[in-house]
Amino acid sequence: MTGGVTSSLGKGIISSSLAKLLQSRGYRVTIQKLDPYINVDPGTLNPYEHGECYVTEDGAETDLDLGHYERFLNTSTSQENNVTTGRIYQSVIEKERRGDYLGKTVQVIPHITDEIKNRIRLVGKKYNYDIVITEIGGTVGDIESLPYIESVRQLKWDLGASNCLVIHLTLVPYLPTSGELKTKPTQHSVKLLQEAGIQPDVLVLRTQKTLTADIRKKVALFCNVELSSVIESVDAETIYDVPLLMLGEKLDETVLKKLELPLKQKPELKPWKDFLKRLKSPRYVVHIGLVGKYVELHDAYKSISESFTHAGAANECKVELEYIHSEYVTDENVAEKLEHLDGILVAPGFGSRGIEGKIIAARYAREHNIPYLGICLGMQCSVIEFARNVLGFKNANSTEMNRKTPYPVIDLMEEQKGVTAKGGTMRLGAYPCLINKESRVYKAYGTELVNERHRHRYEFNNTFLEDFKKAGMRAAGINPDTNLVEIMEIPSHRWYVGTQFHPEYRSTVLQPHPLFVSFVEAALRYAREKEGGQETAGTVKNSNKMEKASQNG
Ligand code: GLN
Repeated sequence: MTGGVTSSLGKGIISSSLAKLLQSRGYRVTIQKLDPYINVDPGTLNPYEHGECYVTEDGAETDLDLGHYERFLNTSTSQENNVTTGRIYQSVIEKERRGDYLGKTVQVIPHITDEIKNRIRLVGKKYNYDIVITEIGGTVGDIESLPYIESVRQLKWDLGASNCLVIHLTLVPYLPTSGELKTKPTQHSVKLLQEAGIQPDVLVLRTQKTLTADIRKKVALFCNVELSSVIESVDAETIYDVPLLMLGEKLDETVLKKLELPLKQKPELKPWKDFLKRLKSPRYVVHIGLVGKYVELHDAYKSISESFTHAGAANECKVELEYIHSEYVTDENVAEKLEHLDGILVAPGFGSRGIEGKIIAARYAREHNIPYLGICLGMQCSVIEFARNVLGFKNANSTEMNRKTPYPVIDLMEEQKGVTAKGGTMRLGAYPCLINKESRVYKAYGTELVNERHRHRYEFNNTFLEDFKKAGMRAAGINPDTNLVEIMEIPSHRWYVGTQFHPEYRSTVLQPHPLFVSFVEAALRYAREKEGGQETAGTVKNSNKMEKASQNG
């Protein structure tokens, strides 16, 4: 899958949608992302650069598109699913130093391109997939994408036409002044591909307006593709509509035909459609504040906002997310910023910018009995807040923010002490967590042992665990192997939970994360109580004051 004309056309969503359709026909499919930048992985990138860093079960720090792949496919991705130029060069250079190419000049062609091709083939082989969709980051014509495009050209030759095809995603802009859809940018970007020796097999055209038969024909003729291989991708109400739009355009059939693979069965999409139905006709609305410091860029919290979409649909309710900049939350304005909310989420993050605002938000939620979910740094903030304001530990802090704090309630893990390199050195990936059966989160999970994904260096400091417990905040989940605290909660509060792990990485369309579902349910119940209703969330009838969700979401 390549992209043309401009970035942000949604290659990730088209790849995910195609994969979903192929999967629903009974194929084993995965999606891989190749990123042309030189960082070895996006773990060292500020979220302002490319949005959230997603984390896989096996601890890879990856591009946020992998989150879409998992949310659509409901299957795990792994280290092999995201490869960057940095990683490609790193392994080629390691091989060179080992002497693997002894005597040879190491070059972009064939050494870098071979490494790229190997990475594409490896993911399919290792996990025994029938089909691998490889998404090439960037836009054709970018200097840094050239080795990838060349690798695709070679791979097509290596594998043969029925084993490898190129889908090119481009834009057909609408010019309001002339009232026309324009195909020239698509023609130019296909020409760029052809210059690189690649004839795309399928074109997916992003457009604001439905394509006319004439436009389709024109694109097919000038870009040298079959008419049935010109696929329209019109702007959708939600990304979760796209698989059905692609089904309507027969993208799956076209692809399988070209790969000379049987259609197998009619796509089994009933659970997906049920989800869409719930998503589009919510009965209620809740307002949840997301307190974070990267709020200018919503992509920085992609998995969290998608988790709310899943959990909202599960509760037949639309979650209105309000992004609140933690740097500007103060003791003076906190009520004004948060009092109207039905739930407060304090987001993950690194470093001290905006930390005091997060601590103030955690305090406000605790003192005003507003449902609260703190994720990673958000959990750490609620612990710091509790230490300072309930336990009276003056200047309690995380040693990440203040190394000399008299009360290091959040502290560096033992194995992190002495680690200086920043890349790939955090506690990463899935770890087990044993849930206390008396806890609120046990009700949400309905099971005692869970696996959740991590990305952090600091932990709750167990020296203080008894103090917290006596004062009313307790560990609701513990790592059974290391005794590290995974979940803190306040049992006397309406719903106050902090997780050291990131539940948002595991929420999918077909399996919304239980903690998000439970949090939204608590927010909904709280909203009802504020309205004076007595019923529980699941059985509520309309209240005249309560805002009804609009039908179109
Ligand atoms: N900065 C904190 C740590 O490293 C929290 C990280 C996060 O929120 N992902 O422990």
